[in-house]
Amino acid sequence: MKYTGLTYRPPFEARSLLLQVTAGCSHNRCAFCTMYREVPFAAETMEQIEKDLREAREYVPNMTRVFLENGDPR
Ligand code: SF4
Repeated sequence: MKYTGLTYRPPFEARSLLLQVTAGCSHNRCAFCTMYREVPFAAETMEQIEKDLREAREYVPNMTRVFLENGDPR
């Protein structure tokens, strides 16, 4: 699995697969938030996402939840 920088997830996603679909945050201007200040925003490549999903299927085949990371991944 590929992760860029620190990984954040809500407590209720503790049992979810953490799948990186972006690095950083596309907005990155909220005054109260410093989570991704040092990480330039970038969308993950579809090739990498598919690679991570294949790897996850191998190691956690019964996973039913996926949390898309990182900041503002729309
Ligand atoms: S991660 Fe969320 S809270 Fe932080 S700057 Fe981006 S949009 Fe704002």
